[in-house]
Amino acid sequence: MEASLGIQMDEPMAFSPQRDRFQAEGSLKKNEQNFKLAGVKKDIEKLYEAVPQLSNVFKIKDKIGEGTFSSVYLATAQLQVGPEEKIALKHLIPTSHPIRIAAELQCLTVAGGQDNVMGVKYCFRKNDHVVIAMPYLEHESFLDILNSLSFQEVREYMFNLFKALKRIHQFGIVHRDVKPSNFLYNRHLKKYALVDFGLAQGTHDTKIELLKFVQSEAQQERCSQNKSHIITGNKIPLSGPVPKELDQQSTTKASVKRPYTNAQIQIKQGKDGKLMKQSKTVDVLSRKLATKKKAISTKVMNSAVMRKTASSCPASLTCDCYATDKVCSICLSRRQQVAPRAGTPGFRAPEVLTKCPDQTTAIDMWSAGVIFLSLLSGRYPFYKASDDLTALAQIMTIRGSRETIQAAKTFGKSILCSKEVPAQDLRKLCERLRGMDSSTPKLTSDIQGHASHQPAISEKTDHKASCLVQTPPGQYSGNSFKKGDSNSCEHCFDEYNTNLEGWNEVPDEAYDLLDKLLDLNPASRITAEEALLHPFFKDMSL
Ligand code: ADP
Ligand code: MG
Repeated sequence: MEASLGIQMDEPMAFSPQRDRFQAEGSLKKNEQNFKLAGVKKDIEKLYEAVPQLSNVFKIKDKIGEGTFSSVYLATAQLQVGPEEKIALKHLIPTSHPIRIAAELQCLTVAGGQDNVMGVKYCFRKNDHVVIAMPYLEHESFLDILNSLSFQEVREYMFNLFKALKRIHQFGIVHRDVKPSNFLYNRHLKKYALVDFGLAQGTHDTKIELLKFVQSEAQQERCSQNKSHIITGNKIPLSGPVPKELDQQSTTKASVKRPYTNAQIQIKQGKDGKLMKQSKTVDVLSRKLATKKKAISTKVMNSAVMRKTASSCPASLTCDCYATDKVCSICLSRRQQVAPRAGTPGFRAPEVLTKCPDQTTAIDMWSAGVIFLSLLSGRYPFYKASDDLTALAQIMTIRGSRETIQAAKTFGKSILCSKEVPAQDLRKLCERLRGMDSSTPKLTSDIQGHASHQPAISEKTDHKASCLVQTPPGQYSGNSFKKGDSNSCEHCFDEYNTNLEGWNEVPDEAYDLLDKLLDLNPASRITAEEALLHPFFKDMSL
């Protein structure tokens, strides 16, 4: 069973000739490390040069994170009387949009500092270089600890994530990039922190003033002809009206970080509620998946809601490719629909993947659901897809194609799917992937360690995932709690840490919550506030 998921075990080291190879590899690794260290040292020097005032306050020790948009450093500082403090310095790339930077900072200053949302201590700027100084939280790598977490720890992790999400959602912040590397977890101290508001957007009634001026990708695309330029003025306003010249720029973190070209995905505006076309994507997807019997290909169409506004095609033209796997020339001439899509593909909600223009805080709850899915199944990343339609097809293999299609209708999208796939039983799926069902030989934690970094569903293993969908359910041990059996549940919560760390008796409440997080319909998806009150957390207090 596990082999069908593409898990490869390392060959045992048996013979001495291998030793030479390992010695050579060892010295290669050392060289690599030295090279890296030299690179980090150089970067630190450059940062001191770019923002010289940092050297008055901080000793920068190491680089702890590097993305397309920022580098994060560990520094120490003697900020107040007492011992040296550890500080995280986030150096934003100079091409980041000033409004974007100021909005990120405002999220941290207004909503941060409590309820597991990272706060901010200082912000430094020289010219176009901005450095945000935050309290440093030492944290684990999600993948490293995934298979050693007790069930109780998973419960605490999710509870604390919802606490952070409730806090930011109350401020009308949609984080848009909820994933383990943005939710820091110190296992030893039981501390948590939601970080990285670099892609955040505001709800229509957001309390974060600057989020009102942050352009979505959709807006950026609309004004992508505008020439971008960088403002290096003296002030980044954290409140009050936004200067006109800042408001009109188009370069943002999102646009640099996740450039989407038309070739990657084309979900086009339809007419008569019938059309959409993502011509190339369909081709790519078909090519990727159609070689296998159980391949799924998908098409997403706009329903009537959006039809009038974005179609550049004369309304009188009727299309003849509806419900086929072709894209006609009429559809090719239609203007592409734009909607916010920032974030990480494997964590994107269906309404993001289908470019629904009305996106709410519910998208963060979906991402939290994907994290929970990883925690329950022991697989990270759970979904791995390079484009949105593949990601959508992957979601269908878990949540069902009919269900996905039906939910999409509620937010104005029609999805065509070449093959019907049933929804999976979440408990059976997670237990099978974790190796806990009785039909699968038990995995030792060591072997699980090997397996955990394999995505449960990837492009490479899509067909296998489909096989997984179709695998007849294994014999289920049946020793879990039934819904409504509250006495035995309470009893179980006390014993999570003793009984196989709780993993052999995961209560139904866990899968009920997972089901509500992975609700395909954003309007009925559970909110963070509701999640905290879910029976899964019944003995935990805020
Ligand atoms: P990016 O926009 O580049 O993803 P993040 O804000 O997510 O930037 O930070 C990148 C990484 O730096 C995080 O995944 C985390 O490992 C580390 N990091 C960020 N902030 C802190 C902090 N306050 N304390 C400790 N580590 C941090
Ligand atoms: Mg990040």
